[in-house]
Amino acid sequence: MKMKRFYIHTIGCQMNVSDSSKLCGLLSSLGYSPASETGDADLVVVNTCTIRAKARQKAMSLVGRLAARKRSDPGLTICVSGCVAQEEGEGIIRMFPEVDIVLGTAALERMPVHLRRIEAGGGPVVDTDMTAGGDFDLITGPVTGVSHFVTIMRGCDNFCTYCVVPYVRGREFSRPPSRIVEEIRSLVARGVREVTLLGQNVNSYGKDKNGCSFARLLGMVNEIEGLLRIRFTTSHPKDLSPGLVDAFRNLDRLCSHIHLPVQSGSDRILERMNRKYTREEYLEKLETLRSAREGIALSSDIIVGFPGESERDFQQTLDLVRQVEFDSIFAFIYSDRPLAPASKFSDKVDEDEKRRRINTLLSLQNSISRRKNIEFEGRVIEVLVEGKSGRSGNGAALQWTGRDTTNRVVNFTVPGDCPGGAAVRPGCLAQVRIEAGLAHSLKGRAVAIADAFANVAVA
Ligand code: SF4
Repeated sequence: MKMKRFYIHTIGCQMNVSDSSKLCGLLSSLGYSPASETGDADLVVVNTCTIRAKARQKAMSLVGRLAARKRSDPGLTICVSGCVAQEEGEGIIRMFPEVDIVLGTAALERMPVHLRRIEAGGGPVVDTDMTAGGDFDLITGPVTGVSHFVTIMRGCDNFCTYCVVPYVRGREFSRPPSRIVEEIRSLVARGVREVTLLGQNVNSYGKDKNGCSFARLLGMVNEIEGLLRIRFTTSHPKDLSPGLVDAFRNLDRLCSHIHLPVQSGSDRILERMNRKYTREEYLEKLETLRSAREGIALSSDIIVGFPGESERDFQQTLDLVRQVEFDSIFAFIYSDRPLAPASKFSDKVDEDEKRRRINTLLSLQNSISRRKNIEFEGRVIEVLVEGKSGRSGNGAALQWTGRDTTNRVVNFTVPGDCPGGAAVRPGCLAQVRIEAGLAHSLKGRAVAIADAFANVAVA
């Protein structure tokens, strides 16, 4: 019998990337094999995002194209998963009757049951039940590199007025620390050297019930033999505890980077966003972090054009960006999301004005990022090698790529006389002399390579 093939198209945040990876593991365990594009697949999963109108449109237009294909290829199975699936439920089947499975954010582990039903000729399934339980996090996706996401919690209790996450991902739920540690140990045994602990608001890990704080969890992960680096995302500034600041002071494997979304530099807008901190409080927390870990890199999310954002509010955001000098930011244009309270706010900002503001913000940040990257020129920094990045031209030396502790992408060559250079491979630690600081990455040449696998048993 011909092996069925699947393709997962992922839109959105790292949580969706992690869910897709696990879904990939789940489908492989059911005997499906991965296809390289939608056209080759018998089953296509569109893992959707609803955080911005654009992401939703992108997902729906792909589902529309798949629905058109299914009219002439009835053997195709279409599944819509993720936040749009949770938000729209039955509405997806009304829009596209060709869709077979609508899989909500808490229903991923029930995919095998739904697939069996479709294969047996049953009608479409809509599963948006958020109370049925199950532990999708027990499923591990394929390990394809040296770096891996590990979900430590799901959901959010914060209800920022622009955000739909609490409505489509539910309340906060923290996984037991023992399960997380066990998962990371098994990833390390399979060659993973860096983990990113994932959650909508990792700083409130454990507050729901298990009593283990996020800082304590970091301490436990820091003890895992063979693991070189720990990252985490995303954090809410109001929950950044003294314990977490201490973790940056004391934990040697915790990378020197924190992504701390500020969203706006104006107290008036922060209040309308229901962010529960002031500009001053945010700045104070950054100062504490900077004094706990010298050279810590700071990145942030910023929304422009939130309802009621005046020119003065926007100038306060620019002023905060100048004052903090973030290493990088993700800037977003505000868009109404039907379930989010801000969609009902008055004083919407004109679309052209929003575009002007985002361009001004990005141009300011680009100049800051570039200047900070140039400061790296001449320094030797440690890079965890992730893979090859090709050759920059005919006859040019092979380039490798990886990231340093501050999360900067570093592309580098390995000269013939580089100590340890002959054994370079993903998972090695490279000492790289930086020759050029570019807008979004660093470029350099390795001066030494160490094999990080040397003392660790790899399965
Ligand atoms: S903290 Fe706010 S922005 Fe982040 S997921 Fe929760 S509600 Fe959304």
